[in-house]
Amino acid sequence: MKVIKIGGGCLKDGPAAGKIIKLISKRGEGDVFVLSAFYGVTNILIAGIQKALENEDTIPSVISKLKSLHHTIIKSLIDDGNKRKQLSKDLSKIFQELERYYYGISFTREATPRMKDMIATYGERISAVILSKSLSSMGKQSCCLLPEDAGIITDGKFMDASAIMSKTSKNLTAALDSIITPQKIVFIPGFYGISESGDITTFGRGGSDYSAAVVAASINAEVLEIWKDTQGFMTADPDNIPHCKLIPKLTYEEAAELSYTGAGILHPRTVEPVKKAGISIAIK
Ligand code: ASP
Repeated sequence: MKVIKIGGGCLKDGPAAGKIIKLISKRGEGDVFVLSAFYGVTNILIAGIQKALENEDTIPSVISKLKSLHHTIIKSLIDDGNKRKQLSKDLSKIFQELERYYYGISFTREATPRMKDMIATYGERISAVILSKSLSSMGKQSCCLLPEDAGIITDGKFMDASAIMSKTSKNLTAALDSIITPQKIVFIPGFYGISESGDITTFGRGGSDYSAAVVAASINAEVLEIWKDTQGFMTADPDNIPHCKLIPKLTYEEAAELSYTGAGILHPRTVEPVKKAGISIAIK
């Protein structure tokens, strides 16, 4: 079984997400997909916290911006009007929860780390539901498994959590064993897990790479593929040095060092869990 991480850069808009859906429908049966939020969504969610603290009148416009961004994507992914309506209904519950959290912040004039982490996860919660339902609407068998239900257990450190691998591995193996089939496509929202005391805790910005590595190591996946909108590790930043070249192969140590020293392609801690488990990372 493969674990495949899909980054926000591949989920820029409806047409980009449409290409990804086609690829998944052709190549993803029996695999597990760990997702980022759609492009820019986490920034909107986090900026919304500050706005809610300052003035509650800003909340409806943050929610409607998020709704319209996602509904535009849904329109280009799902043709069937009834299925689109059903998905909008499912999502409206999620948006309602989010709205309540913002009003809670505004009312208490306090954004605790717990609340900030909870709100920041909504992009991944929403993208996983949309991708999973889009595939179902094409007649594929797919489902969405939330990290809190899968038992991705963290050390409880808000905004910079690490997974507790022994517990996560036991929980995830059991959770996936009960749902995976050779035809099934499973989506797990990246970026967060749940602490032993039940707190939603994120792995830090860009943390869904790390989530995918945790999932891959936990279930001893055949490989961790990271689907990006770039080719892989380059000899320099392609935005500044256009003639830079692709580095075809790196050791775990080299990949970790480049990530820690600023190669934005991978969350720096991604290598840790897969190195321990001896699983290769392929950037595609
Ligand atoms: N959506 C989160 C972020 O923007 C996590 C991720 O994409 O890896 O930081």
